[in-house]
Amino acid sequence: MILAARYVLPVAAPHIVDGGVLVQGDTIVEIGEREKLIAAHPEEEVRDFGLACLMPGFVDMHTHLEFSAMRGLVDDLPYSQWKMQLLEKEQRLTAADWDDAALLGAAEALESGITTIADITDTGASARAAASAGLRALVYREVATMEKAHVGEVMAAAEEDIAEWREYGDPQRLTIGIAPHSTYSCHPAVYEAVTEVATRDDLPASIHLAGSKDEYDFVKYGSSRLAVDYRETYSGADLGWLPTGVSPVRYVEQWGLFEIPGLVAVHCTQVDDADIETLAANDVSVAYCPRCNAKLAMGMAPLGKFLERGIEVGLGTDSPASNNTLDMFDEMRIGLLIQRAVMGFEPYLIARQFVKLATLDAARALGVDDKVGSLEPGKQADIIAVDISHSHQIPTLYPYSTLVHTANQENIVFTMVAGQALYEKDEWTLLDHDRIRARAEELRDTLRS
Ligand SMILES: [Zn+2]
Repeated sequence: MILAARYVLPVAAPHIVDGGVLVQGDTIVEIGEREKLIAAHPEEEVRDFGLACLMPGFVDMHTHLEFSAMRGLVDDLPYSQWKMQLLEKEQRLTAADWDDAALLGAAEALESGITTIADITDTGASARAAASAGLRALVYREVATMEKAHVGEVMAAAEEDIAEWREYGDPQRLTIGIAPHSTYSCHPAVYEAVTEVATRDDLPASIHLAGSKDEYDFVKYGSSRLAVDYRETYSGADLGWLPTGVSPVRYVEQWGLFEIPGLVAVHCTQVDDADIETLAANDVSVAYCPRCNAKLAMGMAPLGKFLERGIEVGLGTDSPASNNTLDMFDEMRIGLLIQRAVMGFEPYLIARQFVKLATLDAARALGVDDKVGSLEPGKQADIIAVDISHSHQIPTLYPYSTLVHTANQENIVFTMVAGQALYEKDEWTLLDHDRIRARAEELRDTLRS
């Protein structure tokens, strides 16, 4: 099949006007000018999307599909209070609720042109939903306990889940990893245990790290609202937390976590130059979640310094519970504008860079760029079509600007993963969207009271 459009954006190479992509099976075979491709392959079916961009599917470097039912539930509170309210509401959901919430997230991801997700979950719902929807997914099994005595059983349960979750989907599309939740919810022994298991079993790993001032104060000074609220709610006991005197980044480094190859640190808004050096020296990748960071008043990640130090960075949505939609266009636009408002004009703060952060850079940061992230012969055919023909988008002089400054998730008209069309014009190949919508209404009733 030849997919064609006004613009083809390989991302790793300059864009092609009136271009096409030849897909055979699950693989991209050739990219080039539309007419030449058609002439060279007259037997191939041609799908022409007209005034649209064909580009690699978005790689959402950090999300939680199962939090999709929490959209709009807690909107105007800072991180610590948001987190506590969310934790309270979470208790109301059954296992079936989590599964359907994750399916809602999977449907939204495909509808938004996201073809690869990196998702942290403790229920496994995201892994099941991603497999059902056909998404490419890296799902990390979350582990958390503040009590040293419980670390053994928590890790045993996690290892059991990891083995089970692997069976949910095709290993070509579904990979299971492990994620210590955060510095305020894990005893140091968790980091040691996770490092041992991840290194031994070659598991990808991720952690929410240095995401808020409260977290920073908790680790360094031993107290903050987050620490008090969280511990009161989840232990009722004095867990004996003492000031460590170091930053969250330095703290987890001390417990060996950065020994895991390719660790993905999420947020990293509260980092100083020494922390950035530590992240760079240990080849830690960073998931930059600009909307979530802004909405929950977590701070602004120093993107320029990350890039300058050669840290692998990609964009993440961090789920509808915090930013309300899985819209990578919003992440690109808001990420670029926030950075430019604060940092001024910098050479890296341009639309093309942010398209790269949402695709190839995120794939590289997750270690999957050999398969996805750009349109290149031999890579997997994870391709989206973005319609850019609306009045507010024309004339389209430069496709990267059009995408970043005028497009939204509604402009996605076609989403393909591994050569399989999974979403097109409000139709999902593998999902029953009417059922998902009906269940979302039920979850609304469960959560709002
Ligand atoms: Zn998160």
